[in-house]
Amino acid sequence: MIEILDLHKSFGQHTVLKGINVKLEHGKVLVIIGPSGSGKTTLLRCFNLLEVPDRGTIELGGMKLSFTDAKEISQHNVVALRKKTGMVFQSYNLFPHMTTLGNVMEGQITVQKRSKEDARKRAMELLEKVGLADKSDSYPHQLSGGQQQRVAIARAMAVEPEVLLFDEPTSALDPELVGEVLKVMKQLAAEGMTMVIVTHEMAFAADVADKIILMEDGLILEEGTPEEVLKHPKSTRARQFLNRLS
Ligand code: ADP
Repeated sequence: MIEILDLHKSFGQHTVLKGINVKLEHGKVLVIIGPSGSGKTTLLRCFNLLEVPDRGTIELGGMKLSFTDAKEISQHNVVALRKKTGMVFQSYNLFPHMTTLGNVMEGQITVQKRSKEDARKRAMELLEKVGLADKSDSYPHQLSGGQQQRVAIARAMAVEPEVLLFDEPTSALDPELVGEVLKVMKQLAAEGMTMVIVTHEMAFAADVADKIILMEDGLILEEGTPEEVLKHPKSTRARQFLNRLS
């Protein structure tokens, strides 16, 4: 369902992705781990073209885009691919001047052209799902970080993406608020949502991932099930990284 082949990305002279290959089936969860600066976020942002790769191909939800150094990617294709994804950022990025309900309705109205009535109905269902139906009239600044992140997840789900992308969704949260966000993510995984998650939460990764990739210096160092990557890594470098965490 998602296939990434030979993906390269540089910022100026600095090559950040050096030939990444990833395959993920529909309904599965991929977790990306690795040291800071290894290219995890850049790879995730390539999935929805927040970063445009220099080279390689991305196939997602029936669309296949090829990138070459010479060719500009059309804006039409960028928009089309982006519509197939929902993104949850580290810092929530809710619209501060809109209520919780407004935040979850917005994309449905502007991107999907749903009626206000339909958008409101779906938004309320999603707020119910993330346990925040009673906060529908609150503004972001009236919510805790964990609640804001749960609204951000509802907002990302609202446009019915084929895949949800999470960029370190709990790293800005106070420790006591991490659990409520991970619980919602776990519930989505159990319901068969396809997800790609960059995280440092290893216990969560072990629990929820169908597949883990461990990146280092723009390359995939290890790839496999949580058992394979976290318990029986093949390379010394991966063992060193995992030992540092424990
Ligand atoms: P990770 O998520 O593994 O910490 P990133 O993908 O954020 O790694 O970053 C990988 C490297 O790319 C880092 O050295 C970072 O400084 C660099 N980088 C990321 N985004 C940009 C950008 N927009 N411009 C220049 N360098 C960037």
